[in-house]
Amino acid sequence: MENTEFKSGYVNIIGLPNVGKSTLMNTLIGEKLSIITSKAQTTRHRILGILNNEQSQIIFSDTPGYINKPAYKMQEHMNDFVSAALRDADIFLFMVELGSSIEKQKELYSKLQDTEVPVLLLINKVDLSKDERQVKNYILQWQEILPKAESFIISALNKFNIDSVINRIRQLIPVHPPYFDKDAFTDKSERFIVSEIIREKILILFKQEIPYSCEVEVESFKEEEKIIRISAVIYTERPTQKSILIGKGGESIKKIGTMARLDAEKFFDKKIFLELFVKVKEKWRNNDNQLKKFGYDNK
Ligand code: GDP
Ligand code: MG
Repeated sequence: MENTEFKSGYVNIIGLPNVGKSTLMNTLIGEKLSIITSKAQTTRHRILGILNNEQSQIIFSDTPGYINKPAYKMQEHMNDFVSAALRDADIFLFMVELGSSIEKQKELYSKLQDTEVPVLLLINKVDLSKDERQVKNYILQWQEILPKAESFIISALNKFNIDSVINRIRQLIPVHPPYFDKDAFTDKSERFIVSEIIREKILILFKQEIPYSCEVEVESFKEEEKIIRISAVIYTERPTQKSILIGKGGESIKKIGTMARLDAEKFFDKKIFLELFVKVKEKWRNNDNQLKKFGYDNK
């Protein structure tokens, strides 16, 4: 007879910025839960994505990429989310980008060398390489560093080899009752998801420092029968940044709003009315109270 005991556990995805952690999380959950851009430090929080079936509940945790030298308190908090993920994992998914420097990942992999927790080493973006020898060679180098880790070459973007990763996870997670409701797919609120969608559009539309100096707060989220009415504020550090965000005649803010609304309508499968404001909040990235208000309250 098959073992019918329920299994549940935390599977924590860690890795340097931009290796594809959020892409993997969304591929695993089948929802666009974590925002993705080509810019480093897109993810600022720890986001749980939950995969349920009859026998198991796998809780994936997407984390910010580990920052070797934090320059702002905000980035220290981002690293703290990574530390939390290092503490409560039942399984680690350590993600690296094919061909990337192993040396630069020392700070992270050294935290995994002595762990008793199973580590799956995911070598991502294999779609970018046609050279099998290079791939094999790269795996061999990592096996010297993390001999106990099991390696998988994957493409999070093209969903290549993801099933084998999920199957292995299902074998490895412990017997445990579900941690969350069996129909939940994230620990995050609807407001958080909307603020992340807006932040993603700012990351896509603006260059250099602007996206990094912005935070988004949803002030109201009212669901009616046929429409969701949302009002949100974009906080930025300087008046000059505020005028760039608004743009000539409000052109830019309108663009952010339209793009975000379309995404939110897809996510919630409902019509959305989205109202956006821009406000200046000097040096919020180093202000404890402000950071707490924005949800960086993990110290
Ligand atoms: P994170 O910072 O680790 O969360 O990385 P993201 O998931 O935000 O992805 C960073 C960039 O890498 C984005 O432009 C993704 O589209 C891209 N990316 C992620 N996975 C793959 C992959 O398997 N192949 C390729 N070619 N690009 C990928
Ligand atoms: Mg990310």
